[in-house]
Amino acid sequence: MDHYTAPTDQILAALRDVAAYDSIAAYPEFEHADLETVVELLREAGTLTEAKIAPTNRVGDQVGAKYDPSDTSVTTAPGFVDAYRAYVDGGWPSLQFPEEFGGGGFPQTIGLAMGELLTTASMAWTLAPVLTRGAIDAVMHYGSDELKARYLPNMVSGKWCATMNLTEPQAGSDVGALTTKATKQDDGTYSISGSKIFITFGEHDWTDQIVHLVLARTPDAPAGSAGISCFIVPKFLHEGDVLGKRNGVHCTGIEHKLGIHGSPTCSMSYENATGYLLGEENRGLAVMFVMMNNARLAVGVEGVGIAERAYQQARAYAAERIQGSIGGQPVTIDQHPDVQRMLLTQAAWIAGLRALNYVTAVAGDRSEHDPDPDIRVRAVERVALLTPVAKSMGTDIGVEVTSLAVQVHGGMGFIEETGAAQHFRDARIAPIYEGTNGIQAADLVGRKLDVRNGDAMRELLAEFRSVVDALQAAGGPFIAIAEPVAEHFGKLQEATAAVLAMGKDDRLAASASYLRMVGAGLAASLLARSALAAPDDAERLQLAGFFGEQLLPSEGGRLRSVLAGGAYFTVDAIGVLAGR
Ligand SMILES: Cc1cc2nc3c(=O)[nH]c(=O)nc-3n(C[C@H](O)[C@H](O)[C@H](O)COP(=O)(O)OP(=O)(O)OC[C@H]3O[C@@H](n4cnc5c(N)ncnc54)[C@H](O)[C@@H]3O)c2cc1C
Repeated sequence: MDHYTAPTDQILAALRDVAAYDSIAAYPEFEHADLETVVELLREAGTLTEAKIAPTNRVGDQVGAKYDPSDTSVTTAPGFVDAYRAYVDGGWPSLQFPEEFGGGGFPQTIGLAMGELLTTASMAWTLAPVLTRGAIDAVMHYGSDELKARYLPNMVSGKWCATMNLTEPQAGSDVGALTTKATKQDDGTYSISGSKIFITFGEHDWTDQIVHLVLARTPDAPAGSAGISCFIVPKFLHEGDVLGKRNGVHCTGIEHKLGIHGSPTCSMSYENATGYLLGEENRGLAVMFVMMNNARLAVGVEGVGIAERAYQQARAYAAERIQGSIGGQPVTIDQHPDVQRMLLTQAAWIAGLRALNYVTAVAGDRSEHDPDPDIRVRAVERVALLTPVAKSMGTDIGVEVTSLAVQVHGGMGFIEETGAAQHFRDARIAPIYEGTNGIQAADLVGRKLDVRNGDAMRELLAEFRSVVDALQAAGGPFIAIAEPVAEHFGKLQEATAAVLAMGKDDRLAASASYLRMVGAGLAASLLARSALAAPDDAERLQLAGFFGEQLLPSEGGRLRSVLAGGAYFTVDAIGVLAGR
């Protein structure tokens, strides 16, 4: 019953018709990455994910990862290692990294598209490649030439996997509260001691070497996040490729959790482990943000990917399950308007947010490769504004869509055998990790919204609103789509002005509603743009129209919550908040 087809065509359509991928492919360094080549490449990737990666999804959930305390090893579910071999042998891990480190030199956008294909096939399996990609970015940006030479070629090729070690029991969202210690040694290395929790693929059987990126503080570091440094701590000490003595880092257990059972979530103990400083002392937060920004967008993609997987299954089920009758004839449930509502809700959100992910990714490539420095600066702003929205919306909607997919199955959705429940359970982590969605919303209103006194956000909204003019100019069925989109952008303008005028507490109270209004507006605009790009495509027109009439009004209704700010959030007045 578990049904999966790689959504390659949908990704290609988003790249071509909505995200302006051509503008990136036009840069001289991406000459070899024109759309035609990308089409072939992603089709091949889709074949790999269908044949090798997708079969790990169920077994990952049912068998999960196993920890052996006798030697602190972790064994992943049957088939995981073979799937990784196929992925590495095909040269896929290196796709978007520079050629000087053995990479394929493709844009980050294409790396992200690969990530969507993988995550749609098997979310839990995909987490190790996602984290390794984030770690590679951090080493590329902040590593000395020596560290780059020591680590990048093997990380890029996939010979070594990597992890991100931020979280400690007392330091989750508040990363600055971490206490892991790093003491400088006479030879310039650091001795790392402390405990980390919730480390994804902190230990496993895919690669001999695991490269841990660890946040820690030196003895005289300032308090809080200003005193964090980042270190590379390899599982094995090594001379080049030759692994030597085991370093002082071990997995002390793995978590029993709601979903993503295939991904080992490890507690890690560091005891006088040898670490190498990445970047400068007390500048670890900047390194972390390179890892996190990449990973945040990748997690937004995860939300959309798992939603796609759940939707495919729900659609297939609805086309087979017979229940009720229309005009005296038995019908499949997809003939019932309410089931159609659920399926269209899923399809519209997925298409809109997928497009948002690729628009964000293209801005990321532009920010690094456009020859015009002014355009690069504007693109950096754009990525900063879009990343928290893409992460939060992709993951919150991932939960909503996978829940709807359970609903489409009726009682069978609640039974594990169908696989629908797994998608719902798996999706639930994505709004929590890589910065909870609450932290994303705080980031949007607390840091990003004020860029150029709000002009960066106003320009973004004006650009996305301009689709209304294009819809009106196109005429015919597009006129009807323009109206709800124009109405929503009017509300967004009001909401933005109100939030900019608010004090800190009101802003934070309004943040989640505001982010959601922004995300819904961007999705609506992108669905409309997609419909305009292919006027004869009835499905695109339907999704843009459905989104505008059926989903956007309730999203716009959040304006009232935004305007209210923290009016009813007063801790003193409410016993439940005061813990009474
Ligand atoms: C399966 C899994 C895999 C993970 N993988 C990794 C990994 O590989 N590496 C790693 O380092 N970590 C990892 N994590 C940790 C993850 O990033 C944290 O769980 C997450 O950052 C939240 O921290 P916390 O759990 O301590 O929750 P808390 O920070 O205690 O948050 C609890 C609630 O309070 C809210 N909150 C907290 N502070 C604020 C604030 N300032 N403003 C508004 N709201 C706030 C949060 O939004 C949340 O709703 C993983 C976690 C899980 C469960």
